[in-house]
Amino acid sequence: MNVLVLNSGSSSQKSCLYEVGDSLPENPPGSVWEGKIEWADDKAQYSIKNSGGASRQDLISVGSREEAIERLLGSLWSGKTQAISGPSAIDVVGHRVVHGGPQHFEPSIVTAEVKSAIESVSVFAPLHNRAELEGMEIVAKKLGAVPQIAVFDTGFHRTMPLSAATYPGPYHWLEQGIRRYGFHGINHQYCSQRAAQLLGKDPNSLKLVTCHLGNGCSLAAIFGGRSVDTTMGFTPLEGLMMGTRSGSVDPGILTYLIRQRQFSSQQLDEVLNQKSGLLGVSGISNDMRQILTASRKGHERAKLALDIYVHRLRSGIGAMIAVLGGVDALVFTAGVGENSPEVRAAVCENFAFLDLRLDPGKNAQSPLDEDISAPDATVRILVIHAQEDWMIARECWNLVQTATTPRGH
Ligand code: ADP
Repeated sequence: MNVLVLNSGSSSQKSCLYEVGDSLPENPPGSVWEGKIEWADDKAQYSIKNSGGASRQDLISVGSREEAIERLLGSLWSGKTQAISGPSAIDVVGHRVVHGGPQHFEPSIVTAEVKSAIESVSVFAPLHNRAELEGMEIVAKKLGAVPQIAVFDTGFHRTMPLSAATYPGPYHWLEQGIRRYGFHGINHQYCSQRAAQLLGKDPNSLKLVTCHLGNGCSLAAIFGGRSVDTTMGFTPLEGLMMGTRSGSVDPGILTYLIRQRQFSSQQLDEVLNQKSGLLGVSGISNDMRQILTASRKGHERAKLALDIYVHRLRSGIGAMIAVLGGVDALVFTAGVGENSPEVRAAVCENFAFLDLRLDPGKNAQSPLDEDISAPDATVRILVIHAQEDWMIARECWNLVQTATTPRGH
């Protein structure tokens, strides 16, 4: 089965193709083709590669998402990065959908009803959900009646108890859909399954804390394969400090900014989402590599940004462990989690009292899907490569196996 995965971001269009046989492989396979277009001002960075080693990179002008998808798909079945014979070789298309709202959690075949449900909750995540809907329309136009499947980033957190999902505001918030949804669910779920596999343990018996540390950052507390708490909430702004996002701040700051500084909703949105976090505090960059370098050179604000980042991670992980009532393994994933031994070491330093200890040698050696804890430590520490696209492809495969997929959209 050829599964095309589409990840439609507000300023990017990513896609990849997996070939899946009659059963799911135990270890994640590489994609046979992947492509990415990222917009910056009036130009777009275009990069494509296939598993045969062919690749292309260019700076191109692409106006619309439709043009971007057309260009990506063209390179999938023609030219030097070709991986399949043509559009009819695609069996199913999976879409990452950021927000499923209060009704949609399970991976779903895209029907008119599912699309209108995604549209109806797009007020919660306007940039993302609209881009994803557009992706579905374009696929229907270009590929005809191929089945499409929506996989929700909020889905994995559907099992959070109401005590974790409900804000302590007025009760009618909950009835209006103002509740904690959580995000990065596709990767938190993938990491929990992969962790059980790497540890050789039954997922039903495990207490895990997964740390997704990319541009966006979130933690999940996972008990027996089910999410019981997470740090992101109604939007992906809650919780940890991130690259450009503040994470949780006292809501009183917002009313202060509105009342005393006449901030508009747009200004608030901009300051909290784009001008805060590592970038806002350091004044240098949202990229952890640059923060670490500047901090080593004695840049005071970069050092402060790093210290806040680590402090909030420690306190968040502590909270997740308390919710779980213990922990068997701590998992690091995504850009910072996979690539920064300094951040992992700083975070773990304060958890020695739980006998959660790193092996410094393993931590330093670019581990991937590996256990990096000290051999005699009680709690395991894993680094797991984020595999959202493979998780989406797996969900598509599962759904196609179990459903008689209607041809149509
Ligand atoms: P996204 O959340 O957009 O998917 P990624 O998971 O790719 O992002 O994470 C991107 C971030 O990972 C970068 O902004 C950078 O801060 C961080 N990163 C990547 N490589 C390293 C590294 N070697 N050391 C520290 N941080 C890194």
